[in-house]
Amino acid sequence: KSFKDLGLSDELIEACDKLGWKTPLKIQIQAIPPALRGKDVIGIAQTGSGKTAAFALPILHALLEDPNPFFACVLSPTRELAIQISEQFEALGSVIKVKCAVLVGGLPMAKQSITLATKPHIIVGTPGRVLDHLKNTKGFSLGKLKYLVLDEADRLLNEDFEESLNEILGMIPRKRRTFLFSATMTKKVEKLQRVCLRNPVKIEA
Ligand code: AMP
Repeated sequence: KSFKDLGLSDELIEACDKLGWKTPLKIQIQAIPPALRGKDVIGIAQTGSGKTAAFALPILHALLEDPNPFFACVLSPTRELAIQISEQFEALGSVIKVKCAVLVGGLPMAKQSITLATKPHIIVGTPGRVLDHLKNTKGFSLGKLKYLVLDEADRLLNEDFEESLNEILGMIPRKRRTFLFSATMTKKVEKLQRVCLRNPVKIEA
């Protein structure tokens, strides 16, 4: 299979090519076609499987057709992971000039607020800091969010993020697409899946 076979737009195929990616990885072959058809996706996958592009490519494909600010939000359990995810979005989305904001703890709120004022398309962050901005940064809302990604969902539920996560879920549209990725399928992840996803396609890397 090639990236073209998956149904991605030419700009994104070119971006993969520029990164030296010859063919899609297994998780991408499984996730991208249903995601492009508008399905929610739940993926059991580890870091290193290529899961970031498995959700970033369909989101960027949709963003091309509907280039709006605060289009997608990716929640991640760690600062390092959030930064890596935003770097992949920027690398894959450079041809379409995608703007990302990284909202993580340990860095000043004010600087992140200035980035939010530029109306980025993609928000990547840890639940606590994303919630903090939703409450305190004027002009920042996820009221028109189209895509939510819960990355490393098992860890999102472990590390005291549960409360912030639930509050964020109450501040975003119910009508949206959701992708959930987790290394393991725990009881808590199953419950989160039932609350957040609609008829998801289940895949395993
Ligand atoms: P991830 O699991 O998303 O952290 O990705 C692991 C690594 O795989 C990243 O460094 C990506 O740049 C790389 N990668 C993702 N998709 C592909 C692909 N189709 N071909 C080659 N490398 C890839």
